[in-house]
This record gives sequence, structure tokens and C-alpha cells, in this order.
Amino acid sequence: MIIKLRSNAEQAQVEQLINWLEGQGIQLYFSEGDTYSIIGLVGDTSRVDIELIEALEIVESVTRIQEPFKNANRKFHPDDTVIHVGDATIGGGTLTLIAGPCSVENEAQITEVAQRVKAAGATILRGGAFKPRTSPYSFQGMGAEGIDLLLKAKAATGLPIISEVMDISQLPLFADVDILQIGARNMQNFNLLKEVGKMDKPVLLKRGLCATYEEWLMSAEYIMAGGNKNVILCERGIRTFETKTRNTLDISAVPMLRELTHLPIVIDPSHAAGIRRMVRPLSMAAVAAGADGLMIEVHNDPERAKCDGPQCLRPDTFDEVAADALKLHDFCKKELHQ
Ligand code: PEP
Ligand code: MN
Repeated sequence: MIIKLRSNAEQAQVEQLINWLEGQGIQLYFSEGDTYSIIGLVGDTSRVDIELIEALEIVESVTRIQEPFKNANRKFHPDDTVIHVGDATIGGGTLTLIAGPCSVENEAQITEVAQRVKAAGATILRGGAFKPRTSPYSFQGMGAEGIDLLLKAKAATGLPIISEVMDISQLPLFADVDILQIGARNMQNFNLLKEVGKMDKPVLLKRGLCATYEEWLMSAEYIMAGGNKNVILCERGIRTFETKTRNTLDISAVPMLRELTHLPIVIDPSHAAGIRRMVRPLSMAAVAAGADGLMIEVHNDPERAKCDGPQCLRPDTFDEVAADALKLHDFCKKELHQ
């Protein structure tokens, strides 16, 4: 971080600033010029309040050189984070398929979908029990009963399960859920992030609808700062001016995050597109870009689905998409310079 001081900066105030920064254990380099002086801050500056410094009378500008996230930063942790749940592995060169309905609706539905996606190569079952819906009049999920049904499907298939937690108060119900999903709308629910940060259960953190990479990684940082290092990032499309698709899949997230962070990166083509026939091409693009996994909505009867039917794949289509995605991943690993 570099602090540029105003040319008329009062010496006493400059010394005060220097003492205050040094008091925080930060190493400083002072360089005095003819027209202005600069202070260089070296080391971990993630705890330095940039806005506080910018507001000082003697300061003209502050430039960050290092990203404000530390735990999630690849510079400090060069090796990929690899997460294990049940027999599934996320990160470290594998392609993990997470699949299941948008919401759990009844035992037959979730168990049948679980069996089908497992047979197709999925290693983690998804299913929402608490649904964040735009309208309060839409189906809100089965709640605790939905979690029970997911656990039954887990027992029947052996697949670990992931489900969305919307609020701290729901956490006790998730004791046997293998991965906690934090949805796009809750990416900056800081109290929830702090609470799951105290647990050791893996957390899949979806990107907020309008969040930058840095905001997203700062949310991951909230979880990791509490001690929970098992964070998976999930790009699910962002809001743009385009209206033909539900969201716009930001495929750049894969190579950009690969540089910025060591955390695994999963793509959700279902919520990105909102359109069933687009799930396959977006899945292939994600695999070719180097994603660690895909999270795909699958329903045995999409026409009657209580949530997100138009984007859910039928099990037969998922069979094909899963097979092609795994084949493409294999090809990319063996034949391309990834
Ligand atoms: C979901 O996965 O069903 C969901 C609600 O996703 P998002 O938070 O990305 O909208
Ligand atoms: Mn959904």
C-alpha cells in the first residue's frame, strides 16, 4: 500500500500517522520528494483501514498494491485447496458433478433424482429445503422436512448432500448436511458468514448478483478468518443489461479466480442461463475454462417442478451432459496446456 501525502502536510501529523501505523506492526518506508512524499507499507496490510487513512487531511491518495484478502489469496497459499466430502473430492484437478433438483419436493422425487444423477457420475446431491424466492407467494421450500428427505436420499445412495442455509437460526438443522450452500442473495450476509466460519463443514459460497471478484473473495475471507478454510466458490451468473438469459455467466471468473485464489471454483450453468437447452453449452464452456466442478439442476418431472422447472434438466439429458463434461475434462487434462 502506498500513501501519497499532500505537499503541505504538517510534519507533526505525518509523524502521528507513522507512529500509528508502526503501532499496528506494519513496516514502513518513507520517501521524501521535492513536491510530495510517500509512505510505503509492506507486509500484511489486510487489517489497515484504507478509508480512514484517505480521510486524513495530510493524505492525498492511498493505493492498494496487495489485495485485501489474505486467507483466500493464492499469493500466501500457492497450493490449490482440495476439499473431501464422503467419496467426493472438490479441487485439485478433478471435475466434480453436483446435481439434483432446485428444491426437495417429496421423497420419491429426491430419491429418484439422486439415484439417476449418481448413475450418471454425480458425486454430490443438491436440493434446496429453504428457498430464497423473489416472491413471498412462491414455494418457499419444505424446510426441516426437506432436509430429512435429503438425508434419506443420502442414506439410499451414499451421496453426500449440499443444501442452502439462509439464516443462522436454521444451522442446527444442517448438522448432517455435508456442504452448506450460501446463496447469491446471502453472499454478504456477514453474520451468517461469520457463523459458518466457526464451523468446519465445507461451504459453497455463491457469487452475489452484482458482486465483484474482490467483494466475493472478501466474503470468502469472512468465513476463512473464523477458521473454516473449506470454502468453494460458485459462479452462477451475474446481472447485466441482457434480458434473454436469466443471468450472464461470467466465464472469466474461472481463469481470473484461479490466479487470485487457491479455492476450488464451481460453475452453476442452470441459474446462469435459466434455460434448459443452454445448460449443456455453458457446462462445456466451464469445463474447457478449467472449472473444478459443475452444479446442475435436475428434476424427474420439470414441467411440474415447484421451483426453477424451465432450467432443470431431465435425468436423460443429464446423463449426456455429465458424460460429455467428464469426457471433455479428461481431454482437456491430457491434451491441452491447462
Ligand atoms: C439455488 O441454487 O437453488 C439458488 C437459489 O441459487 P442462487 O443463490 O444462485 O440464486
Ligand atoms: Mn434453483
